[in-house]
Amino acid sequence: MSSSSQPFIPFTRPNFNQETIDAVSEILRSGWVTSGPKLAEFEATLCEYFGGRPVRCFANGTATMKIALQVAGIGIGDEVITTPISWVATSNVILSVGAKPIFIDVDPVTRNIDLNKVAAAITSRTRAIMPVYLAGLPVNMDQLYELAEQYNLRVIEDAAQAFGSHWKGKKIGSFGDLVSFSFQANKNLTTVEGGCLVLNNQDEAKLAEKFRLQGLTRQGMDGMDVDVLGGKDNLTDINAVIGLQQLKHLPAYQARRTALARQYFEVIRAELKTAGLEHLKLELPVENFTDSNWHMFQVVLPLEQLNTDRAHVMTELKDLGIGTGVHYPAITGFTLYKNQGYKTSDTPIAERVGHSILTLPLFPAMTDENIGRIARALVGILLKYRKN
Ligand SMILES: *Cc1c(COP(=O)(O)O)cnc(C)c1O
Repeated sequence: MSSSSQPFIPFTRPNFNQETIDAVSEILRSGWVTSGPKLAEFEATLCEYFGGRPVRCFANGTATMKIALQVAGIGIGDEVITTPISWVATSNVILSVGAKPIFIDVDPVTRNIDLNKVAAAITSRTRAIMPVYLAGLPVNMDQLYELAEQYNLRVIEDAAQAFGSHWKGKKIGSFGDLVSFSFQANKNLTTVEGGCLVLNNQDEAKLAEKFRLQGLTRQGMDGMDVDVLGGKDNLTDINAVIGLQQLKHLPAYQARRTALARQYFEVIRAELKTAGLEHLKLELPVENFTDSNWHMFQVVLPLEQLNTDRAHVMTELKDLGIGTGVHYPAITGFTLYKNQGYKTSDTPIAERVGHSILTLPLFPAMTDENIGRIARALVGILLKYRKN
C-alpha cells in the first residue's frame, strides 16, 4: 500500500525551542556538565511548584520509583498493590526491591486501578499502594488516601504521566505521600530522560539523595561513608536546564493539549454520526478538562464489533500517515510475570482494555487539521471493518 502524501503525524513529539538549545550549549561550554548548580535550581523550582514540599531529581522515572520504595522501607516479603495497566516499570521496580506486586483490576471507564477492589486484596504483608494515573487522569485521591489511612499503608504515586494534573484544584504532587514523576521524552514535561520525587520531609530527602548516589554521605572536606546500598541515579545539569526551560512553557503546552483533546471528542463523535456508526462501542476517555493533563488521548476499540484486530487498525492508520501506540498491554501477560504465576484472566477488565486500547496522536505542536484527519481516518477504518 502506498503511503499518504500528507506529512506523518507521530503519536507524540517533544518541543524544544532555540532558548533550550542555547541553554544546553551553555552547560556544555561551562565545564560543569553533570549534577551541579542547574540541578539545584531545577529542584528548588520544582519544590516551589509543588507548594514547598521537598523534591529530588533522578536519572529517570524508573529510578525515581525504585528510590521511593526504598525510602518507604519496602523490601523482601512486602506486598505492594498496583495496576496491571501501566508501563512495566511500575511493577518491575516492586520486584527489583524484592517485594511482590499485587495486581488489582482497573475501572473500565478511567482505566486506572479500581480503588473499590483494593480493600479485599489487603493482607498482613501489604505495605503500600502504587496507583498509576494513566494518560494523566488521577484516581479518586480522597478515596486513595482514606484507604491508606484506614489500612496504615504508604502511597507511592506513579504520577509519571501526571505532571500538571490536578485534583480538586490542587496539583498532583503538592499533597499526599511519595509522588513520582517521569521526565522521559514522551512525557508532558521532559528533560529527555529524568524524573523527580516529591517527599514528605528533609529526612526522606536526605535518604533519597543517599540512594541516588551509591549510599554515600560526605562529611567535612574529606570524609565519606556508605551505610546503605545505593545506585548511580543522578540527573545531570544538561537535563536540568532542559527541565527549567520546559517549565516556562508548561501552561501553554497544557492549554494546547486540553484544546486538542476537546476537539477529539467533538470531531470523533461527529464523524461516527456521519458514518452512521453511533451504535459502535468505541470507548472514549473520561471527558475531564479540569484534572487531567491530557498526557495521551486513548480510545478502546470495539474489537467484538469489528472484523479486524488492533494491529491491523494501527497498520492502516500508519499507511495513512498516522502514528499510534499501545499504552499498555496488561503487565501480567508478560513472560516474566506469567512465570511467577500471574494471569491476565485474574483481572479481566485489564485484559480486555490491554488488548483493545489505542493511543492516538496528541502533542502541543499538532494542528486542528491533524485532529480532523486522524478522526476521519479512524472512523473510516471502523466503517470498513464493522460487523453487520
Ligand atoms: C514513563 C513511565 C514510567 C517510567 O519512567 P521512565 O522515565 O521512562 O523511567 C513509569 N510509569 C509510567 C506509568 C510511565 O508512563
